[in-house]
Amino acid sequence: MPTRWASYGLIAVLLAISGFAVWSSITTGRLGQEAIAWSRLSDHYTSAGTAVAAAKSLGHKYRLDPNPKVRHDFNNVVTQLTTALENIHRLGSPEDRTLVEGVRTELTPYLESINKLFDAVDRGDDTQVRWIDNEEAGPRFEKIEKTVLQASDNYRYESIVALEKLRTRESFNASTTPIVFIAGLILAGLFATVLQRTRVELDSQRKAALHASLHDKLTGLANRTLLADRFEQAMHSARRHGSTTGLLLIDLDRFKEVNDTLGHYYGDRLLDQIGQRLLNEARKIDTVARLGGDEFAILLPSVDGLDGALQAALRLHTAITATFEIDGVELDVEASFGVVVSGLHGDDTSTLMQRADIAMYAAKKQGMGILTYDPESDRRSPEHLTILGDLRRGLDRGELFLDYQPKVSLSTGKVTGVEALVRWQHPVRGLVRPDEFIPCAELTGIIGSLTYYVLNLALSQVRVWADAGISIPVAVNISARNLLDDKLVFQIVELLECHQLSPDMLVLEVTESAMMLDRHAARTILMRLHTMGIRIAIDDFGAGYTSLAQLKDLPISELKIDKSFVLAMQSNKANELIVRSVVDLGHNLGMSVIAEGVETVDVLNALSKYHCDIAQGFHLCRPISAEAFMRWYEERNCEKC
Ligand code: C2E
Ligand code: CA
Ligand code: CA
Repeated sequence: MPTRWASYGLIAVLLAISGFAVWSSITTGRLGQEAIAWSRLSDHYTSAGTAVAAAKSLGHKYRLDPNPKVRHDFNNVVTQLTTALENIHRLGSPEDRTLVEGVRTELTPYLESINKLFDAVDRGDDTQVRWIDNEEAGPRFEKIEKTVLQASDNYRYESIVALEKLRTRESFNASTTPIVFIAGLILAGLFATVLQRTRVELDSQRKAALHASLHDKLTGLANRTLLADRFEQAMHSARRHGSTTGLLLIDLDRFKEVNDTLGHYYGDRLLDQIGQRLLNEARKIDTVARLGGDEFAILLPSVDGLDGALQAALRLHTAITATFEIDGVELDVEASFGVVVSGLHGDDTSTLMQRADIAMYAAKKQGMGILTYDPESDRRSPEHLTILGDLRRGLDRGELFLDYQPKVSLSTGKVTGVEALVRWQHPVRGLVRPDEFIPCAELTGIIGSLTYYVLNLALSQVRVWADAGISIPVAVNISARNLLDDKLVFQIVELLECHQLSPDMLVLEVTESAMMLDRHAARTILMRLHTMGIRIAIDDFGAGYTSLAQLKDLPISELKIDKSFVLAMQSNKANELIVRSVVDLGHNLGMSVIAEGVETVDVLNALSKYHCDIAQGFHLCRPISAEAFMRWYEERNCEKC
């Protein structure tokens, strides 16, 4: 905007200066022409006036001294007068021409009279001379004299006025021209400065916008986009020079604790300081990036093989696990590093990124600090990557669907809810069971999209049942990685709102190992969900190594005994005992206890005897489609009535 106004201003100033120059030259020229015309006419009038005065004096002289020379002079003077009158007639205005014609009318009879008078002088006839002078020549001459002299005076005056005007204009021009030009120059300079400044400002704004689009706002480090770009470049140059590029992916382990206990101010300052330490430790050629949240990455464009990358990881790990101090508060963070190098772990940036993520996640899971990508932990490697690619497309194309397995109350026989179990109708492989793709999805961020997809399907189904007059809560399985992601809470709030369901229509099943991965982060998220009124069930309980004591501060409402114990209950006394004790423990902690994997009526009866609350298993119903579940539900209700 200022640029446009400055440009307009600059143009206006230049136009004004040019306009002034043209105007002043035109007006001065016109005044000059006028002055010249006035002065010429004035000269002719003066000449006429002089001739008249001379004629008068020669007339007198001839009477005193009738010398032929005097008469000759007189005739010359008359010629001068006639010429002057002719010039005035030619150059003058209509008024001048009228004046000249008037004089000429008088001049002819006057010349006749004066000639008669001169003849009378020659004859010495004084009486005749006096008479002609008094009656004819004298009065006629006076008229001519009066007209010519008056006009001559007027013209002299007008000529002086015109000259004066010209002089005034010239002196006005002389004084204003420099002022106008100086003022113009100043204004033009001013506008040019504004233009220049605006250009500089726009330039710096453009640069700032470019910088902002490629850097993280909080730490000023490179962002994901810049990292991806540099990674591509580094890989390109590594391919050309036969060198190795390394990538370190870092995820902080206890960062949420800082954010939740000390607040975002400390959290942000800590992230900033971590970024600075990473920058200080990294080499100049390396790119330190923040990928979002508490995730960082370091690109090592040229590194001495895997050993070099591991050394760098060790150095950076030591740097960021050393104590931080923010406003006198000492803070410690743990970090998990995933390390990959080009060639050994992959030949393109997306494979390397994915594998660094897998390594980082493995490091986190195993509490190892630093791990390189291990194809063993990703055994079905090429297939695994294909699954991930396919899964992304499958989610977009809606190839995944849900089956529902009812949970039945052992005391009343009523259906207390259903568990939603995901299935994938793969276009080539056919039906894929969750055990085949969930573990892959859990290794990368895709599990977030999958959980959202399942939650949305499950809740929309609950809405359909509710609209049909049946109130059935749904249980959805949540992965460990979902509990590290703050987005989960917002997504659930949004989905409940979208399907207009109360929070008690949703149960989240979380395995104990998932709760233990990052206990603090998991507890924060689960507490939020619990406060909202969403029930949390601990899934596969007994399969892990966690004791109930470790879980006691978590907001758990339901406990699901792992099906391995239930399945083997009758063949193995120890399992029966475990099931029995878990039921008691759960009740003592105020939880409702569910047994899954109930395949026989005997197991069902035994569980009933042990006061287990709810049963789920093939004996009651296999996981089935929503429509099949509806039929099962109605038949069951009919049998009862
Ligand atoms: P889970 O949460 O323990 O789910 C129960 C599994 O036990 C289901 O297997 C179900 O079909 C099976 N089951 C139920 N009753 C019986 C029975 O009487 N006998 C036997 N032998 N098995 C029974 P499914 O559907 O193959 O799911 C396997 C696992 O995949 C689930 O275990 C769960 O951990 C995971 N999963 C399924 N759906 C989802 C999902 O939407 N999200 C996530 N994150 N995980 C899911
Ligand atoms: Ca489950
Ligand atoms: Ca289970």
